[in-house]
Amino acid sequence: MSSPSPAKKRYRREEQGEKKRNSDSDDDNYVPYVPVRERKKHELMRLGRIAHIAENANKSSSENESDNEQSQEVLGRKYNISLLDQHTELKKLAEAKKISAVEKQLKEEEKILESVAERKALMAASELAKAIVYEDPIETSWKPPRHILAMPKFKLDEIRQKHRILVEGEEIPPPIRTFKEMKLPKSILLALVKKGIKKPTPIQVQGIPTILSGRDLIGIAFTGSGKTLVFVLPIIMFCVEQEVCLPFIRNEGPYGLVICPSRELAKQTHEIVRFFCDSLKQDGLPEVRSCLAIGGVPVTESMETIQKGVHIMVATPGRLMDMLDKKMVNLRVCRYLCMDEADRMIDMGFEEDVRTIFSYFKGQRQTLLFSATMPKKIQNFARSALVKPITINVGRAGAASMNVIQDVEYVKQEAKVVYLLECLQRTPPPVLIFAEKKQDVDAIHEYLLLKGVEAVAIHGGKDQEERSKAVEAFRSQIKDVLVATDVASKGLDFSNVQHVINYDMPDDVENYVHRIGRTGRSSTKGLATTFLNKATEQSVLLDLKHLLIEAKQKVPPFLAELCSESEQLLEVGDTQGCSYCGGLGHRITECPKLEAVQNKQASNIGRRDYLSNTAADY
Ligand code: ADP
Ligand code: MG
Repeated sequence: MSSPSPAKKRYRREEQGEKKRNSDSDDDNYVPYVPVRERKKHELMRLGRIAHIAENANKSSSENESDNEQSQEVLGRKYNISLLDQHTELKKLAEAKKISAVEKQLKEEEKILESVAERKALMAASELAKAIVYEDPIETSWKPPRHILAMPKFKLDEIRQKHRILVEGEEIPPPIRTFKEMKLPKSILLALVKKGIKKPTPIQVQGIPTILSGRDLIGIAFTGSGKTLVFVLPIIMFCVEQEVCLPFIRNEGPYGLVICPSRELAKQTHEIVRFFCDSLKQDGLPEVRSCLAIGGVPVTESMETIQKGVHIMVATPGRLMDMLDKKMVNLRVCRYLCMDEADRMIDMGFEEDVRTIFSYFKGQRQTLLFSATMPKKIQNFARSALVKPITINVGRAGAASMNVIQDVEYVKQEAKVVYLLECLQRTPPPVLIFAEKKQDVDAIHEYLLLKGVEAVAIHGGKDQEERSKAVEAFRSQIKDVLVATDVASKGLDFSNVQHVINYDMPDDVENYVHRIGRTGRSSTKGLATTFLNKATEQSVLLDLKHLLIEAKQKVPPFLAELCSESEQLLEVGDTQGCSYCGGLGHRITECPKLEAVQNKQASNIGRRDYLSNTAADY
């Protein structure tokens, strides 16, 4: 064996042979003798014929044999299982693997969401500084009728289920199916009938009792589902109660504050408030005064009401901040704050303004947030401003109204204006046309006027008088077509809009949901046509595709063909789509909006570093 090293290679075979021979007598490689009967039994076990014998054999076999037997048993079991069963087992294994991929994705998403969560809570600086935390909701004198209080829980759940109401939160007040049982005064009930409103909508069934009970609320329901009344009616009731107990003196108030993202929406909401306040007089109830605070109009009118003592103020953030800053109004006695289209407001960059407005509140308030779209990121962030909030969802947050037929078409950029005329023929007026850019709105408006269409236009570049006139002419159906930017996409309630045409697709699919939500309001039906082409971002197209699928709408082939890398992971966990922006076509890991925000932050960091370097250097 100890041959010299140069000859080693040459004699390898011989060496091995020698080794084999030697090893026969080697103690380490000793293989015990197994009788033929036993060997046969093992062979049968290996083939899986006598699995039960294998078990017995296992139990009785000696230590030395057990290893052998175990390995054979594995083989035996495998052979014993039908191919179908083996297939199922393999499938299970594959699924388990997939689940772990899903878990990985969820964990990663959680991390991202955490890292982008707003550090600063939506609270006033003074409250933060004094570490004031309100733990209990505001108490009110309103109680549900006794027969509703006596209802068992399963019955209440049944009502919610029937109306497709999803609720989250502690001690949720019961849903109430009639306005009468909500204990609203007769004059309000009459005013509702006058408006053709007989039965509450699902968001009203659960939302009004929740607010009347003093609870903070995030109310999410599709466009045109009657969210305005959910906050307007309770705020009016609270103001009546206050006025009866202790009449408002000069310069006192507002007691209730409603903030809206656009002047037009604020005006519309204020008119609804006024309508119900006016009706109160019929019951001999005291006057509830309201005022409107929006930019572009003189403050004189609102100042007159404020000086008399104002109960309800409806405002846009900019004007309100200005008035607070100039001490024309204060929020010392304000107890009710409602933010309509809350997520849009934060998304539009009003976040700092909202924070500043919060800082003017003294003491606890009831906070109410409403929208048809409410990405998780904004819900989580807004929760910091709420006390034991209740979330009411009617349908998925961000889902399009099912009353709208959505048609999307591929239209080349240069063919869009001409094609618009053809689209206008599809339905009778009124028709709303949306475009992203002010220039496009002006161009379309001009073109339609040239073609003899009775059209008006609004966008942020026009003065308020022109904007108001246009909206009024369209509302009263003097004009057939309104061409607008997204200023008109949120909350505006024009009766009977037949058709919404999107001249282009907005960057955010949420804005698309709000735009098409101008038609198909309440229980009416509507049509929405959207022009898409190469200029449309792929990510928003994917979001749109999934939104169309969700709303059971036709998906054109050019859109159906589109798919993303993470398409199979879209319905993972309890969040559908992106938890950052709410888009259905991607996950947070691929969110273009988040990427844009992060890029902006990154470039800011770079700039700051650069500046600090230069400052240090010189
Ligand atoms: P949202 O804010 O949810 O988009 P709005 O509050 O603007 O919807 O209401 C849309 C329309 O539905 C309005 O014209 C309103 O008068 C009407 N409406 C509200 N509540 C009801 C109801 N309970 N029954 C019938 N119509 C209603
Ligand atoms: Mg609304």
